[in-house]
Amino acid sequence: MSKPLSAPTVCLSVPTATVGFPRIGRNRELKKALEAYWQGQLEIDRLQQTAEMIAQENWNTQRAAGIDYIGVGDMSLYDPMLDWSLRLGIVPERFAALSGWERYFAMARGYEGIPALEMTKWFDTNYHYLVPEVGDRWQEPDFSDFVATVQQAQQLLGDSARPIVIGPVTFLRLSRLSIPLEQAAAQLGDRYQALLETLQSLGVKGVQFHEPALVLSDAVNFQSLYERLYQQLSAVGLPLHLVTYFDDLGAAYPWAVRLPVASLSLDFTRGTNLALLQQHGFPPDKTLGVGIVDARNVWALQPQSVLTTLEAILQVTSQIQLQPSASLQFVPYDVRRETKLAAPLRRVLSFAEQKLEEVRLLADYLKGQAGAVDALQQRANQWTAFSAFSPANSTVQSQLKALTAKDFERSLPYEERRKQQIQLPLLPTTTIGSFPQTAEVRQLRVKLKRGEISQAAYEAAIDAEIAKCIRLQEEANLDVLVHGEFERTDMVEFFAQQLSGFALTEHGWVQSYGSRCVRPPIIYGDIFRPQPMTLREFKVAQSLTGKPVKGMLTGPVTMLNWSFPRCDLPRQEQAFQIALALRQEVADLEAAGAKIIQIDEPALREGLPLKTERWSDYLSWAVDAFRLAAGGAQPQTQIHTHMCYSEFGDIIEHIERLDADVLSIENSRSNNETLFEITDAGYRHQVGNGVYDVHSPAVPTVEQVVRQLKTALEHLPAAQIWVNPDCGLKTRRWEEVIPALKNMVAASLQLRTELQNSVSRE
Ligand code: GLN
Ligand code: ZN
Repeated sequence: MSKPLSAPTVCLSVPTATVGFPRIGRNRELKKALEAYWQGQLEIDRLQQTAEMIAQENWNTQRAAGIDYIGVGDMSLYDPMLDWSLRLGIVPERFAALSGWERYFAMARGYEGIPALEMTKWFDTNYHYLVPEVGDRWQEPDFSDFVATVQQAQQLLGDSARPIVIGPVTFLRLSRLSIPLEQAAAQLGDRYQALLETLQSLGVKGVQFHEPALVLSDAVNFQSLYERLYQQLSAVGLPLHLVTYFDDLGAAYPWAVRLPVASLSLDFTRGTNLALLQQHGFPPDKTLGVGIVDARNVWALQPQSVLTTLEAILQVTSQIQLQPSASLQFVPYDVRRETKLAAPLRRVLSFAEQKLEEVRLLADYLKGQAGAVDALQQRANQWTAFSAFSPANSTVQSQLKALTAKDFERSLPYEERRKQQIQLPLLPTTTIGSFPQTAEVRQLRVKLKRGEISQAAYEAAIDAEIAKCIRLQEEANLDVLVHGEFERTDMVEFFAQQLSGFALTEHGWVQSYGSRCVRPPIIYGDIFRPQPMTLREFKVAQSLTGKPVKGMLTGPVTMLNWSFPRCDLPRQEQAFQIALALRQEVADLEAAGAKIIQIDEPALREGLPLKTERWSDYLSWAVDAFRLAAGGAQPQTQIHTHMCYSEFGDIIEHIERLDADVLSIENSRSNNETLFEITDAGYRHQVGNGVYDVHSPAVPTVEQVVRQLKTALEHLPAAQIWVNPDCGLKTRRWEEVIPALKNMVAASLQLRTELQNSVSRE
């Protein structure tokens, strides 16, 4: 038992605030409405009403939780960066002929051949935003929708409403600029100023400016830009509240705290902000927004450590305001709905609504309010109860301790292994793993869950899908087959369901982008594999064909990065635990006859820390985790890995260190750039450079694939090249997949013959 908590030494009344809330709706109302609208089944007015209803509910929830300053205006029909781009009058030329909602959704999703704005990850989160394109063509700004929202919020919340604006420097730094930064900044400055003047005339009492770009390593290069813009904006006379999150201010701290704003919010859950505060102090004329309740994970606050941090902050300044560390959009709504989770676990989880309570509770505690100490003590006790409950596995723990360098290494170097591995024709053809997840396949799982079909009936139906998939791949004449992943809802969830130490929620959805939501598993204890996870389906598939079938696994880093990690163990150790479980799976697949095993790591790059100075530490253990999963494989076993939709240029040596025999990558988004990054670096292992885009229903022609392969042949020896689509085919229809694969194989055969002829002529 930790020492009992005591009341604060001095009582202090501090306000509470929020800086954003989930937008998707408690029951994913926005997702459903959006999809109905896109299918022509819902009018735009109804869609907008849905969004307004969610915003109102969010405001009511935050008000009821006792939040003093509520961030408003972060609601969006698709993405706030898109909204701000339009409000600021930044619309790329290619959308000029469109207007209104047609233009809005064209920018989000593309329209009749006009490509959408590029989508990319929002800092180090799993949320994706649309990248504004700032050129010399500016339209009139139009803030009317934002202003209307702010007015509604004022009616409901009065002066508690604090509009959320994406700050100008962050906006620019996340945009693609085709004009000089200074020129764009000058334009933007004037437009933001006009917005502030409007808000002031409405009687708004303060505006949040979100500037997370201030935590990036190179923020110091933009000091004068920040200073100039915030000078201009503060001159309007409306109090500005500068909000940063996701990491510390680093070297930018000393001047960032002096920007002419009324308050500055810092994230005290990540990075070194506390040390910076202690070292440099804090200006007495400003309020410090203390982001102390972690908005990026699902765990309840740990009273002892939070109170220690608070006390240290109060030593420096007592003019503070308490709040979540960032927008709560990164966590689900309400853990109370997760009635199927074991109580000891549920009691130490905290979703958005619980995080509001935590903020309020901390403020009550500082105020000396009766009951606050008890309430915090109760939370501390729940953590104690949880430690007794959370699955500890001494075998895994001692295995981890006993690891030596050898465990991270294949027993032979690549060149030697290659000779012993399966011999295939030149330009071998394969796919990335999944085949169409039709409504019928998804329905099977629903029926199984509802108890309408037995496990045996479910498996029989899955096996029928596998059989069909094998037959179609044989007909298409592919060289290396897959079973099709029909039994998997999602590449992470499927493994999380079978590994001890992972919990799954029923309603724990968070927005990934637009209408897309994900339900990340929660790691809550030591991870181990009670039994094989993929063997049954592999065996079924391999028994049906003489061609090799790939074993298909999701890699340890992707498993970790697409889950909520536990907070009492370093991420590295969690990745290694997963890797050990996968290593056993690799051994079992080998024993079952797998000659090729693919370990997917599409999320490897995503896990990179925001600060570049922390990259090498992450990459070092992340690559080690992969090597631990694959290292036990026999030299005869060919290990593949797959990555997609990310750049490799700056991490190429780490990709090499993965030591996979074959690396398949997506290409459609990068126009062979990823391939060139790899080949320029002298990559010696085999590469499958995606030959067609799996996100488009268009069937690639033989000529297209031939052209794509010829590009690869110009940069790599033929013996190093594989032929595959960009990524898994689960979102496609069979009618698209079959002709596409046939054309892909035809292209490979054509070039194979040409290559052989040219060899025999030599
Ligand atoms: N094997 C997975 C699939 O084909 C890989 C998915 C991914 O890269 N995101 O679906
Ligand atoms: Zn992929």
